[in-house]
Amino acid sequence: MSERHEFKTEARQLLDLMIHSVYSNRDIFLRELISNSSDAIDKRRFESLKHPDLMPAGLEPAIRIEADAAARTLSVADDGIGMSREEVGDLIGTIAKSGTQEFLKRVRASKDAAAPAELIGQFGVGFYASFMVADRVTLLTRRAGEDTATRWESSGDGFYTLDEAERDTAGTTVTLHLKPADQEDGMKDYADEGVVRHIVRQYSDFVAYPIQMEVEEKEEVDGAETTVRRAETLNSMKAIWLRDKAEVAEEEYNEFYRHVSHDWTDPMLRVQARIEGTLEYRMLLYVPSKASWDLFMRHPETHRGVRLYVKRIFIMDDCDELLPEYLRFIRGVVDSEDLPLNISREILQQNRQVQRMSRGIVGKVLDAIKDLAAKDADKYKALWAEFGRVLKEGLIGDTDHRDDLLSLLRVVTTASAGESVSLNDYIGRMKPGQEQIYFLCGESRARLERSPHLEAFRDKGYEVLLLDDPVDEVWTSAVHEYQGKKLQSAAKGLVDLPADDETQKEAESARKEQEKAHASLLGKLGGHLSGLVKEVRFSTRLTESPACLVTDAGDVSPQLEKMFRAMGQELPETKRILELNPGHPLLDALQRVYDADPESAALADYAKLLHGQALLAEGGQLADPAEFARLVAEVMVKAAG
Ligand code: ADP
Ligand code: MG
Repeated sequence: MSERHEFKTEARQLLDLMIHSVYSNRDIFLRELISNSSDAIDKRRFESLKHPDLMPAGLEPAIRIEADAAARTLSVADDGIGMSREEVGDLIGTIAKSGTQEFLKRVRASKDAAAPAELIGQFGVGFYASFMVADRVTLLTRRAGEDTATRWESSGDGFYTLDEAERDTAGTTVTLHLKPADQEDGMKDYADEGVVRHIVRQYSDFVAYPIQMEVEEKEEVDGAETTVRRAETLNSMKAIWLRDKAEVAEEEYNEFYRHVSHDWTDPMLRVQARIEGTLEYRMLLYVPSKASWDLFMRHPETHRGVRLYVKRIFIMDDCDELLPEYLRFIRGVVDSEDLPLNISREILQQNRQVQRMSRGIVGKVLDAIKDLAAKDADKYKALWAEFGRVLKEGLIGDTDHRDDLLSLLRVVTTASAGESVSLNDYIGRMKPGQEQIYFLCGESRARLERSPHLEAFRDKGYEVLLLDDPVDEVWTSAVHEYQGKKLQSAAKGLVDLPADDETQKEAESARKEQEKAHASLLGKLGGHLSGLVKEVRFSTRLTESPACLVTDAGDVSPQLEKMFRAMGQELPETKRILELNPGHPLLDALQRVYDADPESAALADYAKLLHGQALLAEGGQLADPAEFARLVAEVMVKAAG
């Protein structure tokens, strides 16, 4: 039964790109095909742990390449899991992947003509890379455990066909009908054995299955030269993490990173260790140079984390149990000597050994990152810029490594002129006698810098951390101290900054006097606002603004409350505290109204206005903006006469 299908719009766009773009490096199509074959064999091995008949006894799965110079074809065949007809349609025929849209967007946004080739691996559009070198591609596949095979074929012209077919064994063969070689266009002769051998060695040497190619060799038999064909294994299959560090070139490590991460760029940092003792395992992990586009969206299909091996045998991709979520950007391999080979995801989740391994791995990764921070500040800055937001998530849940993570933290402060500094830098600059690390959370740095909550801090020369990530709001509510210094929000509780010199002391006693003079007014305003706020009190934070809102010491901040609500959590509404600046002329003016008539109805409106403008000054939202606008208009009418 032959069916002709039309590619979905996206797939068509993608194919167009593959066919018409200029590539800096077409060679990678082969890496993509081999990586698919290797993944497919991995899958078959994994499924056969549960269903042993999927892997016939004695089968040693391999990847076979055939280059036919006369027919100008190149094929890659494997003993992998194969695909059912339906799977071919789903996986190859349509591009339903969320990554693809993003890929196309990035390609269009990029001015760089070489961008598509670089983005291919990263977005998992690997199979389509075939169309960079072929004008027709055939895929013949038979799913392990099924009898019939499927043939998929396309010329990249917007259509593909599906036919029922035959294949002797389970697995997949992809055959490329190659475009003519064209040196100028970077289109090599991919039907040439030498070219193929070179590419395989370069990109796929550590693939764990033999990549074989039948090669022609001249041999002398009884004095006469004859050609014989012989299967040559092109790759060394050496597990790179077992090899002596001194023996492995940097480029090989980088190539291996590309293989496991499907990321085309070189990694930023390598974490390599061998753990011996009651638990034995090795790790070869990497920090990428760039955050993947989906770091903050969880797309299982493009998410590639750490691969788990047991005694050199691949067990699974993306082994979430080995690393906490906040290290989800780490890529690479962990190879255990102790875990059972037939370990499943369910068992992994409860396995004590895995939990201990995970702690060990996290320790090594954080040590390596700390080491980088100590040795190469610029490189660390780049790492923090890419992954800092994710690392901060660790401050919330991973209490074991909290101090490590706090030492890695980089933040902008009121005194750092836009540069990120460490908490240790901050502590080193603390004023004599300062006991607390002050911080302020908010939506943007610009807004934070102008916040009334900082007035007294600025006035008295205290440095304050300016935290503008949504996650800052969360971790600062979970972390209470670092290096024996308490973390204190500038917008929470009472602030008591000691006066250091005579002028400040004088200002303080003047303020005490002003507080006394306005005590009765304060009580009145408090009465008017009793439904809106917990308390109205005099502030020690303000030097310029008339009023600000603060959160009571033990309460949840409004931003955090909003986040909890957004996540569907029920919370009682927290009321805040309105603080007034006793030295502000506005209070003198209101005092005159009060003195003339303590029961004046105008005072109720002024109280609401004070509260509303304090809310607006910190970027908050008014509960009733229309009423606020009406009150402002009335006041303006009076003032303008
Ligand atoms: P990715 O490998 O990133 O998933 P590809 O475009 O390379 O993206 O492949 C798409 C999908 O097609 C694979 O995820 C896999 O399910 C299927 N596939 C491709 N090649 C093979 C193969 N040789 N054997 C079995 N399945 C394959
Ligand atoms: Mg692939």
